[in-house]
Amino acid sequence: MIIEKNGVVLVLSGPSGAGKSSLINKIVNDIGEYYFSISTTTRPMRNGEEEGVHYHFVTLEEFKKDIAEDNFLEYAFVHGNYYGTSLKPVKKALSEGKLVIFDIDVQGNTAVNNRLGDITTSVFISPPSLSELERRLKGRLTDSDEVIEARVKMAKREIQRISEYDYLIINDKIETAADVLKQIAITARLKIPNDRINAFVQEWEDI
Ligand code: ADP
Ligand code: 5GP
Repeated sequence: MIIEKNGVVLVLSGPSGAGKSSLINKIVNDIGEYYFSISTTTRPMRNGEEEGVHYHFVTLEEFKKDIAEDNFLEYAFVHGNYYGTSLKPVKKALSEGKLVIFDIDVQGNTAVNNRLGDITTSVFISPPSLSELERRLKGRLTDSDEVIEARVKMAKREIQRISEYDYLIINDKIETAADVLKQIAITARLKIPNDRINAFVQEWEDI
């Protein structure tokens, strides 16, 4: 029997303001051991954000050094800033058998699927409409009108790529959406990595 501890990945993408953070906060106590990947970014800190909690905030020079040293599982340029997922803590969490959760954009989802596709479940979280997205971003009070306009424009492009995801959750009523996300997160743990499948098949061949 194969008993190595192997974690799995849950990718969450969706327009800024779609409700990814709110949904995650609602389900974290019901999904077992998880590691929420804290990305590194060159974006300025927003009101209410904390270093090491929401992101690791770095300068462009620091970010470029991480790229050169191959420290990222993936990185992308989004809304005029760099965002990246550090490889080391992800590897550690996976070796501990955790559910590793990423809040990354569509480019990040492609990169993670290329590298860890066999253990990855991806979910696109969408607001019910663009006007509701705009309303939520305004209500969050974290972005200027100019930034909100750019995010809404970006959302139109991101939504074109929903078909690249395993699941779509339309975050209309938050309780319903959180319940669906919880079920997906629990099911994501049932993915079996290719090396374990191959070893299992090999065991049968060896009989
Ligand atoms: P994201 O993490 O995707 O950028 P947030 O979780 O910060 O989005 O949500 C953006 C704003 O919308 C927040 O002010 C949040 O309270 C609100 N919000 C999230 N989900 C819903 C919902 N289903 N109905 C109404 N407001 C919501
Ligand atoms: P925000 O500035 O609203 O925090 O995030 C903007 C966008 O960047 C969101 O779509 C978010 O999912 C994405 N993002 C955050 N961290 C990463 C990351 O490490 N990699 C990638 N590819 N996208 C990220």
